[in-house]
Amino acid sequence: MPRISEKIESVQTRLANASNESEKPLLLAVSKTRSVPDIREASFCGLKNFGENYLQEALPKIAELQDLDLIWHFIGSIQSNKTAEIAQHFDWVHTVDREKIARRLSENRPENLNPLNLLIQINIDAEDSKSGVAPDQIASLAEVISHYPRLKLRGLMAIPRPRDTFDAQLKICQKVKNHFDRLQQQYPEIDTLSLGMSADLEAAVQAGSSLVRIGTDIFGPRLK
Ligand SMILES: *Cc1c(COP(=O)(O)O)cnc(C)c1O
Repeated sequence: MPRISEKIESVQTRLANASNESEKPLLLAVSKTRSVPDIREASFCGLKNFGENYLQEALPKIAELQDLDLIWHFIGSIQSNKTAEIAQHFDWVHTVDREKIARRLSENRPENLNPLNLLIQINIDAEDSKSGVAPDQIASLAEVISHYPRLKLRGLMAIPRPRDTFDAQLKICQKVKNHFDRLQQQYPEIDTLSLGMSADLEAAVQAGSSLVRIGTDIFGPRLK
């Protein structure tokens, strides 16, 4: 199996090939289930942004890796009793899909930290199993978030259901991008579309993703 460094190099090449060099998307390493030494290795290869899904798993890892000055993104579903710890220990939250969560994150964001960077998750395929707002709810949730001083709305996040062909992946990713463009007309300062995983990286980037969330193709298959 190739080492993490070779895998990262290969993902970076794919990103460069799929985008125009001037606007290469940010690579977020999804480190759920991965060990502290594996995250350290990815960091030594130049990665700074890491994503975690489960708070109880993430907190000890964040504490152990404090010396590296990493940027932590919460990308899992949010229970409202976990908002305080998320607001204290993360720099970004990708999975905000209701007012109550936004309010609690704002109330719990410590004053000595920058405003918490937020993305609204949209349920682009209207799947019962997935979190996220319906597209027609984006504007009202964005409006609420924009009034909280401890939050900074940065854009949208989506997890399209897997598709077999590049064309089908591209089509749904373009749909997400259209929602992003519409929101950006209202909030010109938003700059982040979190879209694309190991299996649909190229389609997402071609559609205009600015941040891809990659686990498997950096660290190998997940065993848990
Ligand atoms: C696990 C996960 C990823 C990474 O998926 P891979 O297919 O391993 O690249 C990306 N985004 C979210 C929200 C995830 O939960």
